[in-house]
Amino acid sequence: MKAESIIDQLGTLSLTELRKVATATTALITQIESWQQPATEIPKPHKTYRQEYIRCGKPTCRCIARQGHGPYWFAYWSQGGRTRKEYIGKKLPPGEEGERDRPKP
Ligand SMILES: [Zn+2]
Repeated sequence: MKAESIIDQLGTLSLTELRKVATATTALITQIESWQQPATEIPKPHKTYRQEYIRCGKPTCRCIARQGHGPYWFAYWSQGGRTRKEYIGKKLPPGEEGERDRPKP
């Protein structure tokens, strides 16, 4: 079916029917365009996960004398020539593997 013949037939439709056609056409175009869009995946920076102990800085806290709070996971990656660091928490994001110190035998 050619577009011209469809357009010719549109002239026989009522306004309500035309609106239905317009809505369906727009929806179809949007859907097809979304399929055609290339996957715009921003390459994720490669993150390295490390466990660290942190000191909270309170002068009365026991962490002053000990190794600190934690361990907590931190993500390290380089971005724009700089090393970035991000606090993750007690648990790693699912699917990520950290550089964990091997448990001593
Ligand atoms: Zn502390």
